[in-house]
Amino acid sequence: MQLSEKAAYVKGLIDGLELDPADKQTKIFKLIADLLADMADEIKELEQCYDDVCDQIDGISEDLSGVEDILCDEDFSDDITYDDSDSDEMSYEVTCPNCGCVTYISEDALNEGVIDCPNCNETLEFDYNEDELDEKE
Ligand SMILES: [Zn+2]
Repeated sequence: MQLSEKAAYVKGLIDGLELDPADKQTKIFKLIADLLADMADEIKELEQCYDDVCDQIDGISEDLSGVEDILCDEDFSDDITYDDSDSDEMSYEVTCPNCGCVTYISEDALNEGVIDCPNCNETLEFDYNEDELDEKE
């Protein structure tokens, strides 16, 4: 049974009691019955809004995965960008030109100039220019 149906049922029961309309308690019962009906309507509206928001989130999440596919399919060159999200250790973001996936490497690995892609095992080589990097900071 829906909330609104339950509220209507309670209202019907109260009406069925044939209480004295002049009695103060009767007024309170009727007010409570009206309040229940109003609350049931409000909750129904809120549920509708919740469903709408959920649908929108699903849509956004589908759009995002589309964007992710595009980013991973692009033929990226092996860009090296400094990633400052890790405060403790310097790490660098490297995009594999073979499979397009992004991996993070430490400064030591960067100094060696060669790493294997963890995804496709492609050997990635890059020139590491310390002077250029220092200027960025
Ligand atoms: Zn790869």
